[in-house]
Amino acid sequence: MKLSTDLGRLTVITGPSGVGKGSLVKELLRSQPQVWLSVSATTRSPREGEKEGRDYFFLQKERFLELVAAKGFLEWAEFAGNSYGTPRKPVEDHLSKGQPVLLEIELEGARQVRKNSPNAFQIFLAPPSFDELERRIRGRGTDSEEAIHKRLTRAREELNAKNEFDAVIINDDLQLACYQVQKTMGLNV
Ligand code: 5GP
Repeated sequence: MKLSTDLGRLTVITGPSGVGKGSLVKELLRSQPQVWLSVSATTRSPREGEKEGRDYFFLQKERFLELVAAKGFLEWAEFAGNSYGTPRKPVEDHLSKGQPVLLEIELEGARQVRKNSPNAFQIFLAPPSFDELERRIRGRGTDSEEAIHKRLTRAREELNAKNEFDAVIINDDLQLACYQVQKTMGLNV
């Protein structure tokens, strides 16, 4: 059995684009400030309001590939035409200090983590329905039609993989989903 209450426990949250991972993680960190959220690197351009080093490390493709070659990522994947990766060192540092670490990543990355860190606890956040997911992705209003199409195609693939996860939580009501995530992680709520 995977105990999620151990100090220095690694937890992965995955789920299709638009399911509300970002809002859920924000809410989770508000109630569980001891959890450290990894900041990923990406080659995509910043969206309005996103800040370097807080939301992502925004890298040129060449720099990203250098880090891949130097084994600087715990995992990395291509998503909707861009690359995303989890910087290895800060994750290892926080885990070795005994801090719970959270990764908010897509499916391929979660699979890599499962292979390399089988003790990590893996949560899949699912939408109430595919129509609702499409509505949320379109409602964000920040992506081109092409990017939306890629995200929707990928979302279908990701939803088909939800049974690979230790826990599946439906994000209908944010507060309820956040409560359920904390419970499955074994955190005191
Ligand atoms: P977005 O462009 O909407 O910020 O993120 C697109 C997708 O990439 C989301 O599903 C998000 O969870 C995922 N993602 C963000 N950072 C990483 C990462 O470091 N590794 C992987 N594999 N996926 C990531």
